This record gives sequence, C-alpha cells and structure tokens, in this order.
Amino acid sequence: MLPSNAKLPKDHYEAKKIVRDLGLGYEKIHACPNDCMLFWKQNVNLEACPCCKASRWKTNEASVASKHASSNKGKKKAAKILRWFPLKRRLQRLFLEPDLASSMKWHVNGRTDDGVMRHPAESGAWKMFDSKHLQFSSDPRNVRLGLAADGFNPFGIMSTSHSTWPVMLVPYNLPPWLCMKRSSMILSLVIPGPTSPGIAIDVYLEPLLEELRELWDVGVQAYDASSKEVFQLRAALMGTINDFPAYADLSGWSTKGELACPSCAVETDSLYLINGHKFCYMGHRRWLDVDHHFQKESLLFDGSIDTRLAPEPPVASEIMCGTEHLLGRCLGRKCQLAYNKRKRREEDPIGWRKRSIFFTLPYWEDHKLRHNLDVMHIEKNVMDNILSTLLNVKDQTKDNYKARLDLAEMGIRSELHLQRKGDDKYIIPAACFHMTLSERDGFLQVLKDIAVPDGYASNISRRVNMKERKISGLKSHDNHILMQQLFPIALRGSLPSHVTRPLIKLACFFREVCSKTLTVSNIVTLEADIAVTLCELEKIFPPSFFTVMVHLVIHLAAEAKIGGPVHYRWMYPIER
Ligand SMILES: [Zn+2]
Ligand SMILES: [Zn+2]
Repeated sequence: MLPSNAKLPKDHYEAKKIVRDLGLGYEKIHACPNDCMLFWKQNVNLEACPCCKASRWKTNEASVASKHASSNKGKKKAAKILRWFPLKRRLQRLFLEPDLASSMKWHVNGRTDDGVMRHPAESGAWKMFDSKHLQFSSDPRNVRLGLAADGFNPFGIMSTSHSTWPVMLVPYNLPPWLCMKRSSMILSLVIPGPTSPGIAIDVYLEPLLEELRELWDVGVQAYDASSKEVFQLRAALMGTINDFPAYADLSGWSTKGELACPSCAVETDSLYLINGHKFCYMGHRRWLDVDHHFQKESLLFDGSIDTRLAPEPPVASEIMCGTEHLLGRCLGRKCQLAYNKRKRREEDPIGWRKRSIFFTLPYWEDHKLRHNLDVMHIEKNVMDNILSTLLNVKDQTKDNYKARLDLAEMGIRSELHLQRKGDDKYIIPAACFHMTLSERDGFLQVLKDIAVPDGYASNISRRVNMKERKISGLKSHDNHILMQQLFPIALRGSLPSHVTRPLIKLACFFREVCSKTLTVSNIVTLEADIAVTLCELEKIFPPSFFTVMVHLVIHLAAEAKIGGPVHYRWMYPIER
C-alpha cells in the first residue's frame, strides 16, 4: 500500500514521540467531579474542590484503599480529567504548508464579490465585525473560528446514557470546499462524562478561552509558507454551532419552558396546555405585515386579536444587564441544584442561567449572531411532527384527545371538540389534516416505491411500514431529503388543498434556506413568506403541534440573512 521508502515509526511509542515534536499533543487537567472548577493555575495543587468539597481523586474504593494503603500509594486516579489540545501551535501549523497557507487567505483573496452569499465571509455579521475591528481585518491571515460542541456516547450500546463532550473549532478562513471538512476541524477539548456538563461547560472552556483572549490581544508569531514571511497571527471566535439543548448550555439562556425561544427571549409567546401538560409556541402573526387580515381573525387562530410587532433578538447590553446578578456563581452541578430549588420557591421567570464565558472575549459583544440555531435538528423535528400528525400515528401524533380537550378549553374550532357518545365514551372527530386510509396508503406507496442514487440518502423505502401505515426509524438526513424533495411529491393527491399548500410552502422554505447560495433580497422574501405559512399552519393544526422547534422556523431566515449559508452553521459536519 505504501511506497517502499516510506519511513514509518517503528512502534506506538516512536509515533507518539513524532507527534509530540509537532506540538500536537494534549494536556490533562483535573476537574472537580461536580464540574465546579478545574485544578489548574492557582488551584493546581489543591486536593479537593473548594466549592463542593469533593475530592479531586477517585474515592469509591476508599475502604478498600485504607486496607491496602501501602500498595495503592502514589497510584491515585483523578476523578475527572479534561483533555485540552492547545490551539496556538495548531493555528501556526495551518500556515506551514504553502497551499494551505494561501487557502487561509481565501476569504479575502479568492472570493468573487457579486452580492451572492456562498461563505460566512459574505454575511452581514462578518462584514460588520470587519468594519468594527479594522486592525484585525486588515490582515487576511488572522484566523476566524467557529466553535462547535456536542455530546456523544463513545461506548455505543454498552452504556446508554454516557455523554462525552468534544469541543471543535472550524477555521472559517478556508474556502467552501475545505471549510467544513473533517480534515479542517481542530479538536480543542474533550470534556469527560458520564453526564453532560450542562451550563458548567464554561468551566471546561476556560483554558481555550484564555488562549483565545491572548490570541486576540497579542497573537502569536507564525511563519507563512506561501509568502515566506513571519507575521503576528491573531484569532477571533465568530460564533458557536450547537443543537438546541447545547444552545442553552453555551449561551446561558434556558431553552425549556415558558421562555424557550432564545431569539424572542422575554417576548416568547407561549401558552401552557392544561391537558397536554406542555407549552406550545404560537403567536406568529407578530411577524406579518402591519394590517394583515390574519391579525383580526381571532377565532381561526388562538381566539385573540394580535397586532403586536415582531420581537427583536436581545442585544449584548440587555444580556449583560440580565446576567449581572449571575456573575461569580458556581456553575457546578451541586451548587446549581441548590440554587434552582431556591429559585423555584421565588418563582423567578427570567431565562438567564449564567453569563456565558464568551463575554470575556473583548469582541464578543460586537457579534450580531453569537449562537446559531441548528437547521438540521429543527428540520428533523418539524418533519417528524408533520408526518406523525398527518398519518395519525398512535402515541406520536400531536393531535390526540388531550389536544382536543385543549381546543375546547381555549374555545376555538368547536368542530374538533370531543363528542360524547354514550356514558363514558367519546369520539374524536376527524380533522381536515387527517389522511383517509386510502390517502395514507397512496402517500406511503409513493415513498415505498422511491429509489434514490447511491449516497444520496439512506433507503427510505425500507423505513415505510405499509401494514401499520407509518414511517419509523428515520435519521436526520432522511428527514432532510423527505422535507426538501420527497414529501411535496408524495403529498400530491391527498388532503384538501388549503392543508397541502402551506405544507408544501414550508418544504420549499427549507429547500431555499438550506441552499448553498443565498442573496439578501431572496431571504427577505423568504422571511415574509414563512410568517404567512406558519400562520396558515396555526389555522389548521392544533396548538400542541407548535412545539418550540416548529416556532424556531420563523427565525431561520433572519439568521441566514445575518450569518450566511446554513451549511457552515449546522450540525451535520459536526455530528459526522
Ligand atoms: Zn466542586
Ligand atoms: Zn422565537
């Protein structure tokens, strides 16, 4: 396989020695088992966490250890170890190879400026950052990074709940054909399990953030192999890539409960469904044009007239103000539990749980889009909601008897309320969005018959169960293909047109917003269209259909306008 003159290291030890010389090793930092702090810098010699008093060492065999004290001496194992892969040398290395070094300047030298967005460098957020920090943007070699974090289970089926959190960096300087590739990603931290760090991820990000602050303030000397000169390399973090739960952990805004939407923040329009025991998120009429006729059609919506204006996402000064009282509080699990118990008694509804550590970066306040909503998971969840509701899949449909009880509670859509039949029997009247049996068969048969090219999607026809009339086991990417290509086709010929029209429009919206090239004028149209589409869906589906994921669709176009094409900001490459 390899040429005969290839020099391979003789053994693992020698291989490690070579990598060490390249400066690509990692450092181990011990952490408090409850995520309060790192045994690092001034705390490096402590034996126990000063906050929760937990020992730095594994103590579960304490009684055994005392028996065999002599044999265990000097073999103490740390309770939790963070692996930190220092960034500076990894950034310097990007410029040591001439081709790669010139690729790192692509975002200035290689682009065509024709008003079409193909790369984050063409987005409004990037341009605004450039104009604010002229000294930084004057050298194209300065590195722009995206930070991605996600939990995964390295033990597969061996342990169902273990969650290890790698933190990766994406160099956005690179051209589109290199940027999101696996080979370009820089592993920065491995945060150990067994549970996800939650908001205490800040504790683990500290070594990386300290490097980033230094890389912004002074930078590091590097050699550019393409122009053969030494220069001062600086770096800036442009934003984070995360799924919705990780959004809460990184930003500090709680994405659960009453104020789940981080973009609407305190103006999140939510309603607690008494029978469904959950929140629904509607109020999409706020994004319509002023004086749109939907605003006054109270009974077709949630029973109210809605002439409010669309909320603006919180700006940095509001965030700083809202998180002022949270500064200095321990983020460790035990301390947070104690705090949350106290808070529940005081019933404090404000959604901030911490001030994100990213605000220690001097430029973080200037960013327009700090955390990205992940289109991948939103698309998957919306598609799941639609399929299970249209096919009326038992236990999964959003339109169950509880939803009908809630409709009665809200006093809307009386034709869908439960109808009493006999003493303790009720029937659920059919809704306009329920497919008939033959329509379901037709819909599923289309999907059953579809064959796609190899590598385009998984074999979706295998996921279709004609007997039970349902689709199960779809992966995120299957949902992506379904939503963008197959669903609108399969839908033809079933359901009344006032139901299929907004659904097909929704599918088109996802196709447009995920497109590899975007223009601002196009997105503005998309933004206006999706508001109407979501309002039309509000008139069709029951409130329980509108989970927070369905609501987030309204923000996707706005984020694409600021942040550029979504495939630089979604989870697909990260999860792969
Ligand atoms: Zn602790
Ligand atoms: Zn929102």
